Amino acid sequence: MKLNTDKWFTEIYPEDGCALSLEVSEKLHQEQTEFQSLEVYQTTAFGKLMLLDGCIMLTDRDNFIYHEMMTHPALYSHPNPKRVLIIGGGDCGCLREVLKHQDVNHVHQVDLDEAVTRASEKYFPDLCESNNDSRAVLSFTDGVEFVENAEADSYDLIIIDSVDPVGQAARLYSEDFYRACFNALADDGIMIAQSESPLFHKSLIESMQSRMVNVGYKSVTSLFFPQCTYPSGWWSASMALKGNKATENRKVDIETKYYNNDIHQAAQAVPQFMRNFA
Ligand code: SAM
Repeated sequence: MKLNTDKWFTEIYPEDGCALSLEVSEKLHQEQTEFQSLEVYQTTAFGKLMLLDGCIMLTDRDNFIYHEMMTHPALYSHPNPKRVLIIGGGDCGCLREVLKHQDVNHVHQVDLDEAVTRASEKYFPDLCESNNDSRAVLSFTDGVEFVENAEADSYDLIIIDSVDPVGQAARLYSEDFYRACFNALADDGIMIAQSESPLFHKSLIESMQSRMVNVGYKSVTSLFFPQCTYPSGWWSASMALKGNKATENRKVDIETKYYNNDIHQAAQAVPQFMRNFA
């Protein structure tokens, strides 16, 4: 079928020799923020689409999988999470999911770029429906500096919902940053970082997880889940425990669309090709 290129947005993954296209009907927003280019499109089958520096951040249709998997497995692996820090996450999808947990009494979201949150409020209002929750604090500054200046024992959970490890975000994948998160966490604290595609980025996952262990996290668990608008359509998160063990079998007691107790277990199943370092 001939491609009518002006009706399609294509994200190309040059190092992987492939691309993903979404049919679009209208460009809704375009700006060059202080930190990145930000675009929003209306697609014909995926609702609205947000791009940062030309890379797909989220669509209406499938962001729920990512936002649920970046939050609930870690929250249900902690005995009693109350204080949560989100680094990045400017679209506010993770913030909304964290605030579904009634025991959580404080969530601080620190994204570098306020423009991302303002665009999300306008074009993805459902993701921002909890932004005025009295437990939520939104700051716009560099996440690395924020964590480096955090007091010890400040958080029970740190979620690193950042863009790919390039530019301003590269430091969010460093050993120094993981050490700063370790120091800011309580003794039974958990850090979870989005860790890209197992199929395309296995060596990145390996290096991220070895850095986490190097700075003192007792164990690191990989979580695998589908994410069809990200490179390869298969995504991961790396969950690092400062304490000895995760809490098992807490009953899921919130409303979700993807995550449940079975998914909590299944997402931790490690494919054979990923086992040679896990
Ligand atoms: N789900 C997306 C993914 O997997 O690529 C990430 C979404 S979230 C919108 C990514 C956020 O990271 C952006 O809003 C960006 O501004 C933020 N970010 C990048 N570098 C940062 C830094 N050094 N400190 C805090 N936030 C940062």
